[in-house]
Amino acid sequence: MTTVTTLGFPRIGARRELKRALEAFWRGETDADALQRTARGLRETHWTLQRDAGATQVPCNDFTLYDHVLDAAFGFDAIPERYRALADADPLAGYFALARGHQKDGVDLHALEMTKWFDTNYHYLVPELHAGQQFRLRGDKPLAQFLEAKALGLDARPVLLGPVSFLLLAKTTDGSDRLALLDRLLPAYAELLQQLKDAGATWVQLDEPCLVLDLDEAARAAYRQAYDVLSQFVRPKLLLATYFGALADNLPLAAALPADGLHVDLVRAPEQLEAVLGLLPESRVLSLGLVDGRNIWRSDLDKALELARRARGRLGADRVWLAPSCSLLHLPVDLDHEKALPADLRSWLSFAKQKLGELRVLADALDGKTDSDARLADARDRIASRKASARVHRREVATRVAGLVPGASGRHAPYPAREAAQARRLALPAFPTTTIGSFPQTHEVREARARNRSGKLSDADYNTFLAAETAKCVRLQEDIGIDVLVHGEFERNDMVEYFGEQLDGFAFTKNGWVQSYGSRCVKPPVIFGDVSRPAPMTVRWTQYAQSLTQRPMKGMLTGPVTVLQWSFVRDDQPRAATCRQIALALRDEVLDLEAAGIGIIQIDEPALREGLPLRRSAWKQYLGWAVDCFRISASNVADDTQIHTHMCYSEFNDIIEAVAAMDADVISIETSRSRMELLDAFAKFRYPNGIGPGVYDIHSPRVPNVGEMVALLEKAKAVIPASQLWVNPDCGLKTRGWPETRAALEAMVVAAKALRDDA
Ligand code: GLN
Ligand code: ZN
Repeated sequence: MTTVTTLGFPRIGARRELKRALEAFWRGETDADALQRTARGLRETHWTLQRDAGATQVPCNDFTLYDHVLDAAFGFDAIPERYRALADADPLAGYFALARGHQKDGVDLHALEMTKWFDTNYHYLVPELHAGQQFRLRGDKPLAQFLEAKALGLDARPVLLGPVSFLLLAKTTDGSDRLALLDRLLPAYAELLQQLKDAGATWVQLDEPCLVLDLDEAARAAYRQAYDVLSQFVRPKLLLATYFGALADNLPLAAALPADGLHVDLVRAPEQLEAVLGLLPESRVLSLGLVDGRNIWRSDLDKALELARRARGRLGADRVWLAPSCSLLHLPVDLDHEKALPADLRSWLSFAKQKLGELRVLADALDGKTDSDARLADARDRIASRKASARVHRREVATRVAGLVPGASGRHAPYPAREAAQARRLALPAFPTTTIGSFPQTHEVREARARNRSGKLSDADYNTFLAAETAKCVRLQEDIGIDVLVHGEFERNDMVEYFGEQLDGFAFTKNGWVQSYGSRCVKPPVIFGDVSRPAPMTVRWTQYAQSLTQRPMKGMLTGPVTVLQWSFVRDDQPRAATCRQIALALRDEVLDLEAAGIGIIQIDEPALREGLPLRRSAWKQYLGWAVDCFRISASNVADDTQIHTHMCYSEFNDIIEAVAAMDADVISIETSRSRMELLDAFAKFRYPNGIGPGVYDIHSPRVPNVGEMVALLEKAKAVIPASQLWVNPDCGLKTRGWPETRAALEAMVVAAKALRDDA
């Protein structure tokens, strides 16, 4: 019987039970027992669900209360000194302090840094290590979760983050080499493997996703050393799990590591199967990642079956496992909860539970079960109906995209001519002040939206409310003396969802939650079909806001790459093709804003950098189409219309050329926390267009004083010509309250004036 397994399952729960339990615990409404009970319940539910859906082997220890990388750090005692007293006194409180900081009884600890897990929208906590780091086992989470499964009659496979990926994903606070800690880390891993073996574990899964990255010789040597050492101890069988891409040049290394099984991603890299089969040593198990763990579409089971048959033909039935490409963490739990989706669309989708159903069909087909033909035919029908659907494929959109000449989009005149035309039209002072778009989304604003959605507040009353908020916001900006105003984005729930809801080709789930970090979840829109814009999306509010003031009102749009990046995208055409459609839809909006008299339009692209492929060799191609899409959306406007863009949480050194190629008239970036260091990339490149380096951090309620903002602007002025500089906060103000927003912006305007007077 073919083995069907998963590399991990979503932890948050189909109804976000873990989120609720965590937040109630953090608020002090429930105790640790209640939290652990919910967690245990979820684990049992998920094991049962996976087994019922067709898994023959389930993972364990994939569950975590917050983050699996944090679990590894905590479990190997890689706990920075500042948390240690708390972690010793109260392990759970210590654990959550690492995750989210701790402020109580005079103790003030900031959390570990958080960063993106490879190219997903999941964020992990970055372990903090140092040259003197010691490791030892702390707590017994992997063992306890294995025993918990065992008590339920399951021979579960504990999942551990592999030692080399653990070190590569960590950082050292003293600049020392993190891989130098491997010698000290391995004994702790060996001890844990031995414990699991003693407890009866047959297999352990060691996740080594870093094997799909560009690795230097030191990292490769670390891999060899780590697995040579671990293989010498008494241990369960080891499944080395790789995912998120092709092993490519690391394949010979991965295949040679002494493990008992290898998992490969055949969704992102189906072409690697041949090479893997060629290099896989005798007797090793090959786990095939056949259904997409990153996206919500049903698979082409015929294609998957072909790969599975090929592997089985070469290795024999016992050595081939079927699995999703990666952990199912990146998917919502169960499509059965989506009652409101159109029937055809629903029939094309597959969430975590349904993915297992698909693997079951494949396994049954391999094992020659009689009803598998009918289920394969059903899968085929779904694919065919999607392929033929007139809602998915729309000729007018295709024709329009086909009319684009790649690389030919752009503004009419080069920047210097546009700059002159814009200066005449806008007549802005030196160091013009502006904000990034959103103003406080207070409880009142959210509540009004929720009541409107549930029908308790009429559209007319909701619009009256929004108009009043917008007017208040415009007045405030005028009072403070900001030069370029915004309307405040009160009508928007989320910067992608707001646009997706108004574009054709997008659908929204009711329960399609995916963990972003800790208890935070996102519900990405589903881009299922050709994208177009049936009607203006932002013109009304922008025009209304403009009617309230003589000062320029900046229109506010989310850019094509960001919309793409924060959605579940189509898998039946390249990402670039979907992005071009979005870009054209946004261009329609840009032109309508311009026609309505809006002279400044900002197209936000905070996700441009996070879309970068995992391998350097693929960067150029991605940046090529991503920049092109931004240019498409901004092209065709008059020279005296000023296009802004905004990017936060970015590092610019290695993408500065692409950022310059976007050719926005003004870019605002987050720089206050780096004390303007991020500007160096622009300075070195002699970036020619306008730049607004953020002068204060919007993540904290703290009100910056004039002096520190002047100092930051002086630093900016030292590397960027003053004539290019704008003055703005780091990012939007939606998470802030009104009092600190007003105070901070007042100080910001005073700072800008100080620089003007100085000139
Ligand atoms: N215009 C958006 C805002 O101000 C930009 C948000 C972002 O960059 N993430 O909220
Ligand atoms: Zn931002």
